[in-house]
Amino acid sequence: MNKLAQSERIHIAFIGTRNVGKSSLMNKFIGQDLVIVSEIPGTTTDPVKKAMELLPFGPVVLIDTAGIDDIGELGEKRITKTIKTISESDFALLVLDSQNNLATNEIDLLKHLKEIELPYLVVINKSDLGINYELLEKLNELKIAFHSVSCSNGNGINQLKEKVADLLPSDDGAPLVSDLIKQHDVIVLVVPIDLGAPKGRLIMPQVNTIREALDTDAIVVVAKDKELRAALDKLNNQPKLVVTDSQAIMRVNADVPDEIPLTTFSILMARYKGDLIEYIRGLKQIDKLENNDKVLIAEACSHHAQEDDIGKIKIPRWLRLHTKKNLEIVIVNGHDYPENLIQYNLIIHCGGCTLTRKMMQTRIKQAKYVGVPIVNYGVAISYMHGAIPRALKPFPDAIDEWERINYQ
Ligand code: SF4
Repeated sequence: MNKLAQSERIHIAFIGTRNVGKSSLMNKFIGQDLVIVSEIPGTTTDPVKKAMELLPFGPVVLIDTAGIDDIGELGEKRITKTIKTISESDFALLVLDSQNNLATNEIDLLKHLKEIELPYLVVINKSDLGINYELLEKLNELKIAFHSVSCSNGNGINQLKEKVADLLPSDDGAPLVSDLIKQHDVIVLVVPIDLGAPKGRLIMPQVNTIREALDTDAIVVVAKDKELRAALDKLNNQPKLVVTDSQAIMRVNADVPDEIPLTTFSILMARYKGDLIEYIRGLKQIDKLENNDKVLIAEACSHHAQEDDIGKIKIPRWLRLHTKKNLEIVIVNGHDYPENLIQYNLIIHCGGCTLTRKMMQTRIKQAKYVGVPIVNYGVAISYMHGAIPRALKPFPDAIDEWERINYQ
């Protein structure tokens, strides 16, 4: 069974007004009755997710959303959630009712999809009842392609799946590590097993780096920070690259000879899922912080806080030590990212390993939109420990940006 994490799958949102058959269509897509379907408008409240293999494309997550015409105070909250889901998705299926003409909120939704440049497909459901001529005319006038289906008799569903598989955006993000190493290169990964490490397993950036290095036919050596020197001594040749957990950067920086390239998992993640160049720009803001400035520390999951937790304890401590300022630090966890980002002077975000690339990009975009500098945990930690120039060295564009912001 494919156990690919949700954060590594393409997300497809089923959107539209209430009672057009979004939930029925998602059930047909999956081939099982996951989502409750009812004639009563507004049955779907919170977004419902289901992972599946969409052949021949591959692993995806389908998300059923509440209608964008939901009503009442709760309805407004659901609409806000739906809009957020749309902004974090990679593709949308806008479901219409074959019996109706395009409603104003559906036209607004089409405009919104265009504005945020989200690829989508319009699906006309209930085709077994015939299709409203005015709806066809309107779609024609707007030059919008569509696919018609009937969730009642299943007509058009298989063809829709094939079409969606064809239209889905490909994963065009940067690699984690495969562009830095080649076949038979040795890459050393430094993985501290301290109190903060999860019991009995490695974390996602470590696992994904190992997998990508193995896919490149490189040789992977994994050692704890305490064993790093011994590991390097046992190698006949210098490794091509050392990658360390950011929290061990000081010790590793001292242990790894200058001629061996060194970076951190956080920097790899920043390239892969975030925006390394934007984070480097964000570093400048750390030294500009003043007393009473507000810093947001955002974690994308809500893991159990450790005694010396990285987000809650260590980063606030290092930040106060580094800036020598009396800062107001706000910490948020989970998938709820604050809306009023403008009140913050700096955002320090975790690596976002449980978020999709699109979700992470949306968060960065939101920060940029209101002009608040953003940086991720590991990039900030390496900076505050004086190791950023070395950790950026394997990435020429990042070093260029670092030099540009330092000498302008
Ligand atoms: S806090 Fe962020 S980087 Fe750490 S495990 Fe959670 S999502 Fe991943």
